[in-house]
Amino acid sequence: MKEDYYDILGISKNATAAEIKKAYRKKAIEYHPDKNPGDPKAEEMFKKSAEAYEVLSDPDKKARYDQYGHQAFEGGGFGGGGMNMDDIFSQFGDIFGGGFGGFSGFGGFGGGGQHRVKGSNLRIRVKLTLEEIANGVEKKIKVKRKKQAPGTTYKTCTTCNGRGQVTKIQNTILGRMQTSATCGTCRGAGQIIDQKPANADADGMLQAEETVSIKIPAGVVDGMQLKVTGKGNEAPGNGVAGDLLVAIEELPHSSLQREGDNLHYDLYISFSEAALGTSKEIDTVSGKVRIKIDSGTQSGKILRLRSKGIPSINGYGAGDLLVHINVWTPKNLTKEQRDFFEKMKDDEHFVPKPEKEDKSFFEKVKDMFS
Ligand SMILES: [Zn+2]
Repeated sequence: MKEDYYDILGISKNATAAEIKKAYRKKAIEYHPDKNPGDPKAEEMFKKSAEAYEVLSDPDKKARYDQYGHQAFEGGGFGGGGMNMDDIFSQFGDIFGGGFGGFSGFGGFGGGGQHRVKGSNLRIRVKLTLEEIANGVEKKIKVKRKKQAPGTTYKTCTTCNGRGQVTKIQNTILGRMQTSATCGTCRGAGQIIDQKPANADADGMLQAEETVSIKIPAGVVDGMQLKVTGKGNEAPGNGVAGDLLVAIEELPHSSLQREGDNLHYDLYISFSEAALGTSKEIDTVSGKVRIKIDSGTQSGKILRLRSKGIPSINGYGAGDLLVHINVWTPKNLTKEQRDFFEKMKDDEHFVPKPEKEDKSFFEKVKDMFS
């Protein structure tokens, strides 16, 4: 049983043309493959929404669908669920606005008339240290991108006379139907190559290495994707360049563990240091810091250094650095040391007497997340 087109777009049967367009735009953005990479469910919804929109946005098809439902299109030339991603982008690309591009280098934007072709997006990964993430960083990355070859000229496509679309008439059981499709000669651009240098490809493009400067804000998270507008592949003719999509990869740190915006550091101190008190140097994302350990510090104590964690990506404050104190129990003792501890075994100062402030492990964990 095929899903109802109105249900797919989440609108009523009385929706106006503007409401239909608005509803589709919302769905298309929600399920856009750039936003849901590798998610087959999102892709399925993206295609279903496009199919629903293809029918409901056309008054003729809509009237037939309203009267006969999905049966209206069985055996017909459209709306059969056979749309692929390129069809969707070339027919409805204009609905996404400037933020989203097509897939192929020369895949046109639809919507009738002349189209501005968008170059394809490029994807790279950038590895960052925790220090770079905490402080923000500007990276200069070499990117291979397609650029228009100097000396390439274009002329109006003679197949579609620059429209970018061609009209097809098909005979079906429901009568003659007119559908328009992207022009195969210019692939929707309305222009074709006139002259190009010998070293350019069929679209008049060259592959060129370019150093792109990428500003990475403080607080990014592993797996996050940043967009550098216009630094993807250029498009031929008067098209606009695609975007450069930068995936963030966080490198592990030698001593700091990240948990959201908080950082954890394991500090080991000796029996004597715990008993007598001391000061220790620890790592932070902004260099070494010396901290004081009070005399009589218990193993398992957590010291919280406020705002010494990772700044929030939203720009509001920063996480904390939590220093976990571990008291190191000696594994080997000299005869002299053994005698000392033997003597102290029943000494009242060595007998555990936990007080209220020596919180249990679970209370500490609860505290840590508050
Ligand atoms: Zn053409």
